[in-house]
Amino acid sequence: MTIMPNANRPSPKRGVLDIAAYIPGKESVPGVAKVYKLSANETPLGPSPHAIEAYQAAAHRLGIYPDGQAKALKEAIAETQGLNPANIMCGNGSDELLSLLAQTYLAPGDEAVVTEHGFLLYKIQTIAAGATPVTVKEKDERVDVDAVLEAVTPRTRIVFIANPNNPTGTYLPFEEVRRLHAGLPRTVLLILDAAYAEYVRRNDYEAGVELVSSSENVVMTRTFSKIHGLPGLRIGWMYAPAHVIDAVDRVRGPFNLNGAAIAAGAAAIRDRAHVEMSVAFNDKWLRWLDAELTALGLRVTPSVGNFLLVHFPDDPEKSAEKADAYLTSKGYILRRIGAYGFPNALRLTVGPEEANRGVIAVLSDFLK
Ligand SMILES: *Cc1c(COP(=O)(O)O)cnc(C)c1O
Repeated sequence: MTIMPNANRPSPKRGVLDIAAYIPGKESVPGVAKVYKLSANETPLGPSPHAIEAYQAAAHRLGIYPDGQAKALKEAIAETQGLNPANIMCGNGSDELLSLLAQTYLAPGDEAVVTEHGFLLYKIQTIAAGATPVTVKEKDERVDVDAVLEAVTPRTRIVFIANPNNPTGTYLPFEEVRRLHAGLPRTVLLILDAAYAEYVRRNDYEAGVELVSSSENVVMTRTFSKIHGLPGLRIGWMYAPAHVIDAVDRVRGPFNLNGAAIAAGAAAIRDRAHVEMSVAFNDKWLRWLDAELTALGLRVTPSVGNFLLVHFPDDPEKSAEKADAYLTSKGYILRRIGAYGFPNALRLTVGPEEANRGVIAVLSDFLK
């Protein structure tokens, strides 16, 4: 629906109606009973049983306000990650933290640098804050550090990088992140969104802890929605310099996390065995899917996350759109990602074993 400004009623501030609203992936298929949702990068293993127990116990505390500092959660994060709790802030999903950072640091006239295939939320939050997103080209579906640095102007206040990125699954080795940081003015905030950090098994990857600790202009955001399997509870956290925590805390809603999320999140991050099992499961099936898709003749962007970007042939009969319709009719929901600059690709989340095998069988049929 297109809403036009109207002189006879309240209008949103400038920019809001330019935002293309974020469209989440499909969840169900009318007429298909058994559906595999492989479109939202959810873990097939779900959350730790301890997290579910903690959530259920929180049902007895619904009559009281949650702890506005989310102390139990911050402490669990700090302990397991070896960080100072004073440098941690929790959010209602990392989405909220990205939004708070944009609200805190961006004003009309300011610019935020985002990348061509970067997570769409950065652009949305930038425009919502009244500022201007500046989109830079990527190289081989990966962030191009030189292009990002060239895009920086005196108006730049934030650079948003997802590392690894969604929907490409590619990552920047830490040396490249360091080079990016070294080239930025000290007044520019570098936001490293490491939503998939736990999944990465590469010696040259670092989520950003060291860079946050050793500088005044880097923030790392993390989430409980991916490896911890709690997207339904909306929990994210960021690790940031004290002056950033102080500023954002003034903008943050006083009870931004609910009590059940605080309790379940703390239990989830303490269950290291569950995290390790989830990483191992993903590693095995990510490789398997990559090999099988490649064997089918499809180009797959090398991914370090829990999803794969699958490119379809130029043949209009074998396009991503046609593949999506066919997969959907068989109960396999993947993610179309035209909005990210990939009109002829689909994003596939690693699913349970039967879904992974099933999706390959259906695609094999489709490509015949
Ligand atoms: C899934 C995802 C997030 C997590 O968002 P939440 O609000 O914590 O659920 C953040 N960034 C990227 C790039 C993601 O893919």
